[in-house]
Amino acid sequence: MNIGFIGLGQMGGAIAANLLKSGNQVAVWNRSAQKAHPLVGGGAVLAETPRAAAAGKTIVFSMLADDAALDSVVAGENGLAAGLDRGALHISMSTIAVATAERQSAEHRARGQRFLCAPVFGRPEAAAAGKLYIVAAGDPADVELAAPLFAAIGQRVFNVGVKPSAANLVKLCGNFMILSAIESLAEAMTLAAKGGVAKAQLLEVLTGSLFDAPVYRNYGQALVDGRFRPAGFAAPLGLKDMRLAGQSAETLRVPMPVLGVLRDHLLQTIAVFGEDIDWSGIGLSIAKNGGL
Ligand code: NAP
Repeated sequence: MNIGFIGLGQMGGAIAANLLKSGNQVAVWNRSAQKAHPLVGGGAVLAETPRAAAAGKTIVFSMLADDAALDSVVAGENGLAAGLDRGALHISMSTIAVATAERQSAEHRARGQRFLCAPVFGRPEAAAAGKLYIVAAGDPADVELAAPLFAAIGQRVFNVGVKPSAANLVKLCGNFMILSAIESLAEAMTLAAKGGVAKAQLLEVLTGSLFDAPVYRNYGQALVDGRFRPAGFAAPLGLKDMRLAGQSAETLRVPMPVLGVLRDHLLQTIAVFGEDIDWSGIGLSIAKNGGL
């Protein structure tokens, strides 16, 4: 398929590489052009603007840091929207606010363009291995059109309805749950370690019994190893997600007291340990507060 890909960060770069490897023609654009070089070396076409990446393509993907990045890439005379043909499809994979997804969806529709939200679960290693979990929402015909491309980058696609923003709501719920798991695991590990039980020992018991899930196994090992840099998922992106989950909670009038705690701990982690730490570095703050 003739596609465009916009946003070649840790996730986008790996996803675009798999789309290229699976035999598609891919035009790539990134704000910092040097990140496109490895892909161009592998056969991708360098687009000078988001508009050029989208022009004449059946599908253009975007995988950008946040809502502001998506808005700026879509808008303007060199933006994605100016290049995308009527009837062509934009698949937004970024984790963005529900309200932003709803606005983008309406604006695409008004221009006669199609818009699907397909945020993902899985870190950059999973993206590189083509093992992402894709949460898609939008017109079922668009999900079907994208199916061969999703198969090249993910291990499973969940279709959560016809309203694109529903996918972002699911993604934000999931990230809230992941950070809750990291928080509770780090608190338990700090307690165990201070009482003389090694973190690794606690993790072995938990994941070998009632907590045998990837989120506990993978993040638990990162906490045991103290492996927080380089960040696979940078703490400021996690903070953005807690903020976006909070926005939905306010809009829908759902009290989420745990969310407030997670947001504060992540903010504290960034303030103390810097912008470049992984969001699981929240474990450092918890250990420090616990006197470890
Ligand atoms: P990243 O490595 O920081 O990449 C961010 C991308 O956004 C880069 O291409 C960056 O361009 C671009 N960007 C940022 N601000 C921009 C702007 N104003 N205009 C144009 N481009 C802009 O982040 P990532 O880890 O790939 O995450 C991308 C998205 O996936 C985020 O929404 C994140 O929440 C989500 N996500 C991440 C993970 C993970 O484990 N990392 C997992 C699931 C979902 P430059 O290269 O020029 O900076």
